[in-house]
This record gives sequence, C-alpha cells and structure tokens, in this order.
Amino acid sequence: MPFPKTEVEIIFYTRDDKNIYRKVSSTAFDKTEVEYVEEKDYAKKIALHTAGESNRCLDVVFVPAGYAEHEKEKMYTDLKLYTSHFFAKKPFSDAKDKINIWGVERFDSQSGIPGLKNSTADFNDLGMHYNTFGSERYLMTEQLWNLHDAILGVEYDQIVIICNSEVYGGGGIYNFYASTYLDKENPFVLVHEFGHSFGALADEYSSNDSDAGLVSMEVEPWERNITSMKDFSSKWGDMIKKDTPIPTPCTKQYEETIGVFEGAAYQTKGMYRPYQDCLMRSDKPFCPVCIRELEMLLEYHCK
Ligand SMILES: [Zn+2]
Repeated sequence: MPFPKTEVEIIFYTRDDKNIYRKVSSTAFDKTEVEYVEEKDYAKKIALHTAGESNRCLDVVFVPAGYAEHEKEKMYTDLKLYTSHFFAKKPFSDAKDKINIWGVERFDSQSGIPGLKNSTADFNDLGMHYNTFGSERYLMTEQLWNLHDAILGVEYDQIVIICNSEVYGGGGIYNFYASTYLDKENPFVLVHEFGHSFGALADEYSSNDSDAGLVSMEVEPWERNITSMKDFSSKWGDMIKKDTPIPTPCTKQYEETIGVFEGAAYQTKGMYRPYQDCLMRSDKPFCPVCIRELEMLLEYHCK
C-alpha cells in the first residue's frame, strides 16, 4: 500500500459464511516504527515487456523460484518464454499496449521445488513447495516476507511465481499471487492461475474433489463468473439472449451460447457457470463473461 502521510487506522475484515464482512482486528499505523530499506536491497529488475508508464498500465512481476546460480541462462530463457505464454491468450493477447511485464533476477540455494514425496527439503528459499494443504499439485509459499523482499523496488500490481520444475502444479489467490510450474508448450496453468489472482475468477470445474465444500450454495458467491442463483441479477444476466432457457441445458444447441449451466466451483449441483467451457474450466479460451471481467480490470488499471 502507499506510504500513509497522515495517521491511519488499518482494519482487517473477513467474510463470514453469509459473505458479509466482519471486522477481525485493527491497528493504528505508527510512522515512527517503520523500517526503511537501503537501496542496495532492491531487486535486480529485468524489463520483459514494456507497454508504458506504470500508473497507466497493469504491471506484472515474474518471480523465478527454484533456480540455482548456475541456471542463470535458463532463468532468463524461461522468463522470456513465460512472457510470450502470457500474451498467448485473449484478452491479454489484445492488451500488449496495457501490460508491463517485469522480471527479477534471483537465485535459490537449491535447484527445483521441494515438497514432493522424495524431496529432502520442505520448502525453498522463497518458501515455495508442492503439496500445500496436502494437495500435491498446489504449489505455493506461506513466506510472504521473503516473496515481497525478493521484488523490492519493482513496480507491480500482480505477482506471478515461475517455478523451475516440470512437475504439474500451480496456484492463484485473488490479489495475492499466482504460481505455475514450467510447461514449455502450454500457457494454460499460468493464465488459469492469473485468472484467479488478477481476475478474481472462480474455477468453473464441476467435478467433486478435495476442494468441495469450500463454497456455500446458500448465498450468492462473490466471484463474478459463477452463480448459485440466489442473486443472479448481480451477475451476467445482461449478456444472455432472451430465448436462452435458464438453467441452460448442456447440449450441442447451446455450445458457444452464454447461459447458466449447472456445475461449477467443484460442485456438480447448485452452482452454475456462464458457458459450457472456459479457461477457468479446462484448456479452452476464456468465456465471454470471464473476458468481460478481465477487460474491466485491465481498464481499471489503465485509467
Ligand atoms: Zn469463464
């Protein structure tokens, strides 16, 4: 957050099971207790794609993780590859003039990412590891100080951690960070996780698995690309043609149609998505509803 020039109170809220914000705690900001960082601690910044001034662009920083010092060349190659991966999918492919991509040069003491069955370490220097919360493919860090220290002095709105590991995995939390494993061919995981961390988009999968039960069907979810039909008018109703039935049958007739299809957010029943398929569901383009949300957020950053 910007450095407050006057006295401020910082208040933390959490959403309860009805999606209502409840105050958790608050603290007064005391300017005299701030630790200043010397310039020498700033990250070594790499310009991977430059669109314009930071206050008129979305700034994304790519943070390499799991690269040992002897892998410097590979790190630069992968950061460049992931820059082209990032612009491979709409709406980002149409927004090259709105998005700056920065990288940082940093190294870990060990090559690769720990956390898999036969690894000796629990996490790397950035705190990255597989198996977060017992889910093998969930590739995250809880060491936020380390992450933010690694990108000190870089202008960024969004953080993406590029992991030097070809074992499938990734993760993305809204306004927090996204992470991806290394896939030389396919940008799917990168863009999907960025859909979570930048776009606040929910998963549109319907299969029940370990994450089921995280969503309440009793209230309208806050994510813009799913609905429990409790308050659908607040979602994508304005994009649906009058003759489209609601809920919309998942048939050939309604492929390529914006509707209300049952099955989303790991639920097979009671939660709905706007399109039969979407990048938030599988390796397909973003659906028109997700595109609209992402474009809106891009515009917000470029105002
Ligand atoms: Zn979608």
